[in-house]
Amino acid sequence: MDLKEKIGIYEDFPIEGISFKDINSLLLEPKAFKHVIDEMHLVAKALDANIVGIPEARGYIFGTPLAYLLGIGLVPVRKPGKLPGVVVSEEYKLEYGSNIVEIQRDSIKPGDRIILVDDLLATGGTLMAATKLVEKLGGEVSGIIILIELTDLGGRELLKDYFIHSMITYP
Ligand code: IMP
Repeated sequence: MDLKEKIGIYEDFPIEGISFKDINSLLLEPKAFKHVIDEMHLVAKALDANIVGIPEARGYIFGTPLAYLLGIGLVPVRKPGKLPGVVVSEEYKLEYGSNIVEIQRDSIKPGDRIILVDDLLATGGTLMAATKLVEKLGGEVSGIIILIELTDLGGRELLKDYFIHSMITYP
């Protein structure tokens, strides 16, 4: 199936100079969505994980059915201030400014094996911060699965220590 034709492209969104890849048109097509989840499932099965880590918000869309199919747990990776209880945080740099991601401290234990799932890999900042959160808690990242990879933005290089599977690439 040609998944690329299911992705919407919006120039100059959310700011000038950005060519935004929109997955919402793919989500409207049940066969395309099933194809994506089935391929992610096939890849994930080999990674021998017991948790799927899902950056909000679009990581939830793909990671949740994957955890259901694998029969394993889900750990949300959230923006600051959203999670109750004790959290661990990681700050990462953006082109302008910075972001923070958090997970609940007790959601990952030493020896846990985590697959990180998101919609899109650009600079890799978000997923790199997520790997650091997992490792701070003694977990191991068994792999990263994303739908879309922007190959010219350096994400794969930043995350070179990890197995990465992407399904659609753009320069
Ligand atoms: P990174 O941290 O630079 O790799 O950016 C990845 C994050 O930004 C992901 O969580 C994406 O959801 C979001 N993102 C960046 N560019 C796009 C885009 O073109 N379409 C959809 N999401 C994007």
